[in-house]
Amino acid sequence: MPSCWLVSEDDSHKPIKLPHLEAVFLGRGPETKIKDQKCSREQVELKADHNKGYIIVKQLGVNPSSVDMAVIGRGNQVKMRTKQRLCLVNQLYPYTACFKEDSSGLSSKNSSKGSKRPHQHEESGEAAHDGAHRNKQPTLEHTVQDTTLHVHAAKGPGQSGGSSAALTLKKPEHSNAHMEGGGHWSQGLKASMQDPKMQVYKDDRVVVIKDKYPKARYHWLVLPWESIPNLKALRAEHRDLLVHMQGVGQKMVEQCPAIQLSFRLGYHAIPSMSHVHLHVISQDFDSPSLKNKKHWNSFTTDYFIESQEVITMLEHHGKVSVKEGMAELLKLPLRCHVCEKEQATIPKLKEHLKCHFTV
Ligand code: AMP
Ligand code: ZN
Repeated sequence: MPSCWLVSEDDSHKPIKLPHLEAVFLGRGPETKIKDQKCSREQVELKADHNKGYIIVKQLGVNPSSVDMAVIGRGNQVKMRTKQRLCLVNQLYPYTACFKEDSSGLSSKNSSKGSKRPHQHEESGEAAHDGAHRNKQPTLEHTVQDTTLHVHAAKGPGQSGGSSAALTLKKPEHSNAHMEGGGHWSQGLKASMQDPKMQVYKDDRVVVIKDKYPKARYHWLVLPWESIPNLKALRAEHRDLLVHMQGVGQKMVEQCPAIQLSFRLGYHAIPSMSHVHLHVISQDFDSPSLKNKKHWNSFTTDYFIESQEVITMLEHHGKVSVKEGMAELLKLPLRCHVCEKEQATIPKLKEHLKCHFTV
């Protein structure tokens, strides 16, 4: 008989057994030992489908519950599969789903239960469901629909090689001309976006990956599955896709545990990497991968084009125009993005940034 368990990652209590298609409610209380008032007594409803191998997690509480990095949202539900991580509230109290062919591996006798309710019917089986400084985004009811981050089948169709970028590509310092898989370095995002280990969120239109060389504490890239080489290839019909990318980016910001940080969402005027990608980057710029003037200026001058500005250009002109002289911006003196004081070197700039970002 297959069985399903929810295992507390910090080992604060025994695994919770989730019976087949039976609603189990989990939250603050003696079963979970959670005392945090931010966590409701019934923070989530869990319904395991032993046959299909997933748990439907519905957020009932006000504060965000999340599966992997994606916030579920109150009233929404997502599927959670084996090894995925549920954080009960505010990215805290992590649990992992564990499906077993038989229940022998885990003790059921003393298992804590969460609070159960009698109704046993499966509802639908399917999940119900800038420069932005934390602005509220239009609601994206279906954004975080199915966080199948560990499912093998890639959902997106966009796996084609795509055409090469029309803009001049500059090889980043860290890259060799060719990647491990044999492709050119500028195609690296295409490999990363297909790699489940890099993916932190995906839906039917976009995927979010962590930037491999983050230039701040939090740095994600939102990429469409559709093969679009760069900003120049965008047309009016891509407007909705870009709005969705921005919404997903903002969801990433909302679920970020470092609430003191502000974020910007935008595109590089002249990207190095092929396949259009939206940067979602925290404004601390506290990262060893931020090494030189070009890195700094690419995120702190007009070289960084706000997501909203790109969307507005598409709405008004049906295309994105990148102004002349962008490359020159990368050579500007290093200037603090908070107080505008000029700094002589990158190490001095990094030292200076500490006065703005104490935590
Ligand atoms: P840009 O093309 O200038 O907009 O920036 C490309 C971003 O992709 C940079 O922030 C890089 O650190 C990042 N990057 C480069 N190679 C990879 C890779 N293979 N996977 C994920 N991120 C990457
Ligand atoms: Zn400053």
